[in-house]
Amino acid sequence: MGNATIPLNQVKGIGPSAQEKLQKLEIETVAELFDYFPFRYETNEEVDLSVAPNEARVNVVGEIVTPAVVSYFGQKRNRLSFKLKVAHLVIQITFFNQGYLKAKLNVGDSIRIIGKWDRQRQAISASKYAMADETTATVDDKKMEPVYSMTEGVKQSQFQKWLRTTWEQYQHTIEEYLPPTLINRYQLLNRHAAYEAIHFPTDLQQLKQARRRYTYEELLLFQLKLQLMRQREKEQSGGISIKYEVQALRTYIASLPFELTGAQKRVVNEICGDLLSATHMNRLLQGDVGSGKTVVASIAIFATVNAGYQAALMVPTEILAEQHFAELTRLLTPFGIEVALLTGSTKAKNRRVLHERMASGALHVLIGTHALIQDDVVYHRLGLVVTDEQHRFGVKQRRAFREKGEQPDVLFMTATPIPRTLAITVFGEMDVSVINELPAGRKPIETRWFKHEQMADVLAFTRREIAEGRQVYMVAPLIEESENMDLQNAFDLHAQMQQYFGAAIPIGLMHGRLKAVEKEEVMHAFEADEIKMLVTTTVIEVGVNVPNASTMIIYDAERFGLSQLHQLRGRVGRGGYQSYCFLIADPKSENGKERMQIMTESNDGFVISQRDLELRGAGDFFGNKQSGVPQFKVADLVEDYRVLEVARTDAIQIISERLLTQPDYERLAQKVQWQLQAEATKID
Ligand code: ADP
Ligand code: MG
Repeated sequence: MGNATIPLNQVKGIGPSAQEKLQKLEIETVAELFDYFPFRYETNEEVDLSVAPNEARVNVVGEIVTPAVVSYFGQKRNRLSFKLKVAHLVIQITFFNQGYLKAKLNVGDSIRIIGKWDRQRQAISASKYAMADETTATVDDKKMEPVYSMTEGVKQSQFQKWLRTTWEQYQHTIEEYLPPTLINRYQLLNRHAAYEAIHFPTDLQQLKQARRRYTYEELLLFQLKLQLMRQREKEQSGGISIKYEVQALRTYIASLPFELTGAQKRVVNEICGDLLSATHMNRLLQGDVGSGKTVVASIAIFATVNAGYQAALMVPTEILAEQHFAELTRLLTPFGIEVALLTGSTKAKNRRVLHERMASGALHVLIGTHALIQDDVVYHRLGLVVTDEQHRFGVKQRRAFREKGEQPDVLFMTATPIPRTLAITVFGEMDVSVINELPAGRKPIETRWFKHEQMADVLAFTRREIAEGRQVYMVAPLIEESENMDLQNAFDLHAQMQQYFGAAIPIGLMHGRLKAVEKEEVMHAFEADEIKMLVTTTVIEVGVNVPNASTMIIYDAERFGLSQLHQLRGRVGRGGYQSYCFLIADPKSENGKERMQIMTESNDGFVISQRDLELRGAGDFFGNKQSGVPQFKVADLVEDYRVLEVARTDAIQIISERLLTQPDYERLAQKVQWQLQAEATKID
């Protein structure tokens, strides 16, 4: 077990008070101490300012382009500043209380500056300097100082002393658990060398190698866990083979009012293969808004019912449930398939009838919200569960649904294109199908970004669209923390629009506080073209389909995430009309401006989601903590995606070739087992 179990009280030089302090950092063993990594390093490496993050400690060399100016505050304090040309940037340098430097600084001199970078102001608040001819004397270029995150009462220097003491006595206990094949294949540092470089780095290159090794190890272990889970799931007995009649399915597909796109055909084949096979289907179906996932789901459902099983379709909102119900009824009832709707607002009497018909097998397809798992629905022979927009469902619901009925196949659909890095971590135990093609003849939505002060232009345009017979959405932001205030936004906007357009143009209002029946009424009125403009909060986001709507106006667009904006935009452009999306925003940050820019440049959900991931980081991508994005110690899902791909390929190979049983892999196998056990016993 190596150093995993050596308690710190065995280390010479770590007394009770040190132990107590380390305990505050949840460090009780030698292994835990070695595993406590620095969260950053102070370095004096020269940096490229155009990519340096705000507030980073930077080291630059440049040419002084303006004379130093000193201003005094009171007797003791002063500020010295001048402009410095670094590459082709001219930045502001400020020294505090070092006015005496003025005599040394001449225009045209070359100087090295170390200090804190203010990206917004393009300025460095300097802490150290060296004239070009004395560079090495004053500034140690190679310095790499680890900085650990500390808690109250524990000093950085103390911690480093304890670490050093422990390291000297116990570094020999660090064991390798990657097999030599992998170490050699990627020229990885061994585990001891990696730890040494992480805690006691001597140069950046070595630190990079240590990081590379640790990243690979972390991602490989993670992928091994996923692949083991996937293998177990596949091997579990009880999966069903859904033996539909191929000819009947062909007839159904031929009855559709359009030809399937190539991508739809491909995923239909992938899904049907899963249905026929006796192993469990656990498949994620990704496709941009409007790519035609519903019809694919209908094909899977048709096949399931044809083979004598029932199917359930679960969605996050009642509006969406209704729309799916309407569409699937239209598609499937001509073939004698009985479809029903079950939501939170289904009346008790109807519920009972539905339950009975489901239990007897008279009903073939049930569509609904959480009621499908919360209710005590008994299925006669449940063969397939489809969920739409499943990232709104937690892992637990996934499991609950899988446990209902007789081991149904499961298909998760999502219109939030998930960047591959996240797809293979968060949904790594699933198979993935992608519809990467829109039906032919779609006109790309034109997206434009306006400032609030240009609202008049947007409204004039909107008036013309309405005059041509089209309909319009206007979305007001709704963010959880300030729900009341935002609700007011929707109310205000609604009132303003009524005033602007006058009584001749009916304008609806939709928000989360409305009762389900009220929402339905508004939605039906909009679908029936009785309402010309719908002012709404983001309840409209998911799946709503009104082909006559051609314009989407998003108010305060900077307050939305990119993927959400893309989702909202997907509500228009669903018919044959040229459609528009207007983003109304005055973003203050660079990041905000960049997001607006990206939206106007791309209509491709995968491009947008990748940029969203880069701008927001993996943890925030789904907008909530329950998304199941794993926390890694060193690996970064955005930066390390190549390593992730490699680790995944290796993990798949290791599992499928059953390498874990080989002697070389014994340690690795143990480690994976420990992690799996730790996870199984974790309380959450
Ligand atoms: P998604 O759920 O993926 O956003 P939908 O399934 O709602 O997309 O499909 C969007 C629209 O495109 C629907 O009106 C649907 O009938 C239509 N559609 C789907 N597949 C095709 C196709 N292959 N050709 C033409 N129209 C299609
Ligand atoms: Mg859909």
